[in-house]
Amino acid sequence: MSRKLIVGNWKMNGSLASNDALVRELLEGIGQPACDVALCPPGIYVAQLQNLLAGSPIELGVQNVSMNENGAYTGDVSAEMLKDYGVRYAIVGHSERRQHQAENDVHVALKAKRALAAGITPIVCVGETLRERESGMTEFIVKRQLSAVIHLNGHCISEIVVAYEPVWAIGTGQTATPLQAQNVHAVLRAQIKAATEHADRVRILYGGSMNAANAGELLSQPDIDGGLIGGASLKSADFLKIIAAAR
Ligand code: PGA
Repeated sequence: MSRKLIVGNWKMNGSLASNDALVRELLEGIGQPACDVALCPPGIYVAQLQNLLAGSPIELGVQNVSMNENGAYTGDVSAEMLKDYGVRYAIVGHSERRQHQAENDVHVALKAKRALAAGITPIVCVGETLRERESGMTEFIVKRQLSAVIHLNGHCISEIVVAYEPVWAIGTGQTATPLQAQNVHAVLRAQIKAATEHADRVRILYGGSMNAANAGELLSQPDIDGGLIGGASLKSADFLKIIAAAR
C-alpha cells in the first residue's frame, strides 16, 4: 500500500497575507513527513501557493476543475491551465459543490476524466446525507456516486484518490466513528477491486470533522488511507498533528 495522503481543503478561506503565514508555519513544522501532504487553496491563490511550496514536501491541489477542455466556458478553469501551475491534485464532487452548484454524478465523472487526461489526480468525493444514512441508503449512495466515475474512466480508475465524506460530518464537529468510516471504506474498496486489478494503489481518504484528536484512530483503520481536512487544515498546529498521525 502506498503512503497515506493528508489533504487540506481550505474551502473559500484565506488572503495573500494569511496564506503566507499559514504556509510558512506549516513548512517550519513539517520536517520529513511520513505521509504525502497537499494543500488545496481557493483557485485564485494557486500561483501564490505554487511559489510558497516550491521545493517543499507539500504538493499543490485545487478544489475544483472544469469538466470542459479550453474554449467558450466563461468563468471556468481547465485542467490544462491548472497543470501549468504545477497542480498535482484536484478535488472533484465535493458535497458543497454537489449541493450549491448542482453538480451531479456525470459532471463529477467528467471532471475526473479531464483531470486524469491532464496528469492531475482527481480526489473524488462521495458521501451520504444524514437522511440517507438514517434510511439505510449509505452503501447505495456512495456506490452510485463512485460508479459514475468508474464507468467513465475505465482502466484509469487505479489513478484516482477517493474521499469518503459523510455530509452530516462535514464542518459539524460530528465525526463518523472509526468503525462507521471503516465499514464504508471497505465497501468502496470492494467496488474498486471489482473494477481494477490495481485497487491497492487507490487511496481512500476519510473527511468530515477530522481533527488532531481523532485523526490517529481514524487513520489506523485498515481501509483509511488518509484524510481530507477542512476546518482543522486552517490551523497550522492542528494540521501538523494530523500529518504526524498519518504513518
Ligand atoms: P471539515 O471539512 O474537516 O471542516 O469537516 C472536510 C471537507 O469538507 O473536506
